[in-house]
Amino acid sequence: MTATLLILAAAAIWVIRAHFWPYAPCRWCKGAKTNRGSTAKRFGSCWRCKGSGMRQVLGSRQVHKAARGIRGKAWKAGK
Ligand SMILES: [Zn+2]
Repeated sequence: MTATLLILAAAAIWVIRAHFWPYAPCRWCKGAKTNRGSTAKRFGSCWRCKGSGMRQVLGSRQVHKAARGIRGKAWKAGK
């Protein structure tokens, strides 16, 4: 029972996080945008985020898609 509640709470937190903060600093370069081993002479973009310094939070696209669907339905119902 407690475990179920914990999972539900974790899922709710994850959905809220993915909805309001869909981007997080890249885990590989930690937002530095350059790859490890970059020097002043040799500069390379991070291979993971391709130089954006950010990564999209897992599932944020799905959360936004679902939110759009709910809003669309509510809008139709209110009409
Ligand atoms: Zn990166």
